[in-house]
This record gives sequence, C-alpha cells and structure tokens, in this order.
Amino acid sequence: MNGFASAAQGGPSFIASDTLHNAAVQLLQARGVRLEQLAELVLFLQQDYIPGLLMPDCLESILHVLAKREVQNALLTGIQLDLFAEQGMLFFPLQPVVQADESLYGVDETLALSILNLYGSIAFTNYGYLDKLKIGILAWLNDKSTGMCHTFLDDLAGALAAAASSRLAHRYRHMLEEQSRYNR
Ligand code: MG
Repeated sequence: MNGFASAAQGGPSFIASDTLHNAAVQLLQARGVRLEQLAELVLFLQQDYIPGLLMPDCLESILHVLAKREVQNALLTGIQLDLFAEQGMLFFPLQPVVQADESLYGVDETLALSILNLYGSIAFTNYGYLDKLKIGILAWLNDKSTGMCHTFLDDLAGALAAAASSRLAHRYRHMLEEQSRYNR
C-alpha cells in the first residue's frame, strides 16, 4: 500500500481535519477567546470599507479561517506553549522569556505569520494595526494581571481577525468585479 492509500484509510499518522478543527475551537474557548469576540475585531476593521457588513458575515469569515489546517496547527502549537509556560514547564531560560512575553522574543509573532501568510498583504497590515491598538479581546489577552500566559495566543487571535478581515476584503472586491461585468 502506498503512502496516499494509507493516509486515505486513516493510517496511524493521519489526524482527521475535524479532530484538529474541534480541538482548535475548543482550546480557543477554553483559553477565554470566544469566536464572537474575534468577529467584533473583524467588524471593527472592515465596517468602513464594506457597506452593510454585519456580525454574522464576520463570524462566518472567522470560521472559514479556522477551517484551514495550517491555522489549526498554529493555534494548537501556540496554545500548548502558553499552557506550558503557565505551568512553569518550559526549560530555562525559555520559561521566563515566554512567561514575561519578552518584547524581543518574537517567535509568537512568527507563528502568527503562518496564519497571515495564507491571506496576503491586507492581512499583514490589519494585523499590525490591531497589534498597535490592542482593543477588545486583545486588551484582555495582553493583560498580565490575569495570571494566565497568552504570549502566543494574543498574536494568534490578532492574526485570526486580520486574516478573516483580509478574506472579506478580497471577497467584496471580487463581488464588485462580478457586478460590473454583469452590468457591462
Ligand atoms: Mg505575544
């Protein structure tokens, strides 16, 4: 049996997409991030550019981003590292660096790039903008007084919202182009 056939039949190294997706969504919620809070960031970013944009549109876009395996993998990895840091399980000197979300660490932002890379330059600019403003759920994730460690999740949450925003922006442009072709 070749590798593809083995994977298709659910070989031992194959984790089903549903399993990854459910784990990513459940972990987000367990770590205090509701999908609606991410959708609020999307609405904030895009409401001036897409007329009539509503929360359900933003929530749907977040769900589309969360359906991608690369996104699920980034979330699982980042949240796992946050949890290890919270439990003091990282080795020295990584433990104090991650625990303190040291500004020059940068691997948290690099992991977030694996989400942004899928959605192009608009995702990058929106991510940078959110990172400066730190509004909504991002303010809570950056609050060190909670006793939780969100070194990775703050960047991943911002990247999710930025990616979902970029996706909406591209779809809106596509819709306008389709309309103008139809009216020509
Ligand atoms: Mg961070």
